[in-house]
Amino acid sequence: MLNAVEQAVAPEIGTGKVADYIPALASVDPRKFGLAVALSDGRMETLGDSDEAFSMQSISKIFTLSLALKAVGDRLWDRVGREPSGSPFNSIVQLENEQGIPRNPLINAGAIVTTDHLVEHYCADSDGAEPAVVELLTMLRRLAQDDTIQIDSAVALSEAESGSRNRALAHFMAAFGNMANPVEKTLAAYFRHCAVAVTCRQLARAALFLAHGGRDPVTGEQVVTRQRCRRILAVMMSSGHYDNSGDFAYRIGLPGKSGVGGGILAVAPGQGTIAVWSPGLNRAGTSRVGSLALGELVRQTGWSVFG
Ligand code: GLN
Repeated sequence: MLNAVEQAVAPEIGTGKVADYIPALASVDPRKFGLAVALSDGRMETLGDSDEAFSMQSISKIFTLSLALKAVGDRLWDRVGREPSGSPFNSIVQLENEQGIPRNPLINAGAIVTTDHLVEHYCADSDGAEPAVVELLTMLRRLAQDDTIQIDSAVALSEAESGSRNRALAHFMAAFGNMANPVEKTLAAYFRHCAVAVTCRQLARAALFLAHGGRDPVTGEQVVTRQRCRRILAVMMSSGHYDNSGDFAYRIGLPGKSGVGGGILAVAPGQGTIAVWSPGLNRAGTSRVGSLALGELVRQTGWSVFG
């Protein structure tokens, strides 16, 4: 099946546009392509550059959401919604009409609120936001069973230096009383968790709990409750790709999350997880070749949640 995926995407490799609004991402080779499928019994099947680390970017929002639900519970939903936005990931337009409450936790504004909760929970006694970042990194390393996962500090710094848009979102929410911490403290954590570098293999392995009712099928760790897992997947299906979420559901039929580093995480409930990486993006910031590969993989496996 993976051979068929490889053949289907081969002529397209290198297409799409590499993100350049974060300068450190602009230099990534557009011809990279990696894919890893993690199955319930811990088996892993891979293609291409599946052991090369890339910038997780917005895929980290799935892990911060999982961690925040564990830390603060359903209180999270007082400050962020769960409706698709139909807008680009960094859009500010809805925030004014909706009194500073972002539509969902997977657009930037909603992810900043989620991170703000983590900072409030883990960093109350700290001037900086590092304890929240360490908590996330520890969780990722444990789930991936790989202690080598690191933050790419050059990417984090580059985003912090060019982060006017995210600062605008955060200050706008602060004006509506929807930030618990100083904007720069929360953004320091946000920029760093977006800059975690992972391989397809590590990402697919770390997310395996989402394919099994919140429980890691290999270690038995209940990472989130079954009900929360179902709900995280619902938000991924409706909002995981911003204004491209409907098309992704139509073509691929799996809950997923894209990042502007070119990674996509997709979850096939009861079956496994798929992490794919190809840096060229479509207009909505989703990996172009990555989504083609997922479409072909779902065609081969029949894993669409829609039957
Ligand atoms: N760190 C990026 C940002 O805040 C994440 C965006 C994305 O991956 N879609 O702009």
